[in-house]
Amino acid sequence: MRPLDPAIVARLHARVAELGTISEEPGRLTRSFFSAAMTRVHARFAEWAEAAGLSCAVDPADNLRLRWTSSGVTAANENTPRPLLVIGSHLDTVRDAGRYDGPLGVLTGLACVEQLRAWGEAPPFDVEVVGFSDEEGLRFQTAYLGSAYYAGVFPEAWLALRDAAGATLGEVLSSRGTPAAEVLAAQRAPAGLCGYLELHIEQGPQLEADACAVGVVSAIAAQTRARLVFTGKAGHAGTTPMDLRQDALCAAAEVVLAVEARARATPGLRATVGQIAVSPGASNVIPAGATLTLDIRHPEDAALGAAVAALEVETAALADARGIGLRWEFLQKGRAVPMDAGLSGHLRAAALARQGAAPVLVSGAGHDAAVISRVCPVAMLFVRNRDGLSHHPDEYVEPADAELGLAVLADAVVRHAAAFP
Ligand SMILES: [Zn+2]
Repeated sequence: MRPLDPAIVARLHARVAELGTISEEPGRLTRSFFSAAMTRVHARFAEWAEAAGLSCAVDPADNLRLRWTSSGVTAANENTPRPLLVIGSHLDTVRDAGRYDGPLGVLTGLACVEQLRAWGEAPPFDVEVVGFSDEEGLRFQTAYLGSAYYAGVFPEAWLALRDAAGATLGEVLSSRGTPAAEVLAAQRAPAGLCGYLELHIEQGPQLEADACAVGVVSAIAAQTRARLVFTGKAGHAGTTPMDLRQDALCAAAEVVLAVEARARATPGLRATVGQIAVSPGASNVIPAGATLTLDIRHPEDAALGAAVAALEVETAALADARGIGLRWEFLQKGRAVPMDAGLSGHLRAAALARQGAAPVLVSGAGHDAAVISRVCPVAMLFVRNRDGLSHHPDEYVEPADAELGLAVLADAVVRHAAAFP
């Protein structure tokens, strides 16, 4: 195993720290879509890219794109696009964010190219390091604006979304002179795109439990979000006998526990009731209505579908036994995203060689890789973060863990190059 260049590692750590200070709010890290803070970040990357021998561009959706045209690439002819391997993650943040969620993946991508060049590697494909402009959805409450545009799947309906100041997404996209309709008409995945790698913090506790710095993602979990609406009958809290009530909240409470019980009994299932609303919501009135949200996830589509179907039957019986009406409204049904076996195999082999183990993890959270999987094979490497804490200023990654992530990523690209068709 070749050692990493200490200067490249030092630059990676310094850049993570520096981007952690580039914010649109004083005293805390917040960087949203099309913000001045994002433009300042891009300007820093432009300097770093030039020093590293990469071209730098920002696309109409504000995605940062750093291209390394390897001398090992030979196009068959002028009309054949060079094959392109993308290493990316996002540069936007939530409000009052940590400094690793997203930017660590982009900066490690840049460091990876620097390391490949320092090793004298010349892979038979170009490498593009991409910093997506919006993954968190802070400004328009819709995630993946950046990667959706990059993949050429940005839906026109999003142009009507409004931010807190009342500006539409279409107006924001048009603000650099090209009308949004033209920006969208021109969107398409890059020519030659043949693979995507994303390094990201784990945002969970498994790597800490495994005592490993990095792990390889097997799939991004399928996710269903629903609203359950219970309809009962209001009544006086003092005069209505207990056996004559139709209390919507009591039925909802039983459902909350049934959801938990099913998730605990089903391997791989995660189910959460995160919100509940009661009407009329008075201390001396029997609840006539209750509405709760259900977020339910599993690495496999079929297992998630079966769990949801079973819960529909079970919750209907629980409500029925109390004389309560129950209606399910599905808000979102996202399919599982399996990672590519070939790319993941390179990450696993590299992790095994560098740390003696290659834990396999399911990602319960969504990532840009899920969107990019619509246009090319994808794989993800997770890096351990302290207490699994993210979306918080105390988010932390040990420098040694970030270094191992860089080493595994660089080794995996070398392995991919060696096996490239
Ligand atoms: Zn993220």
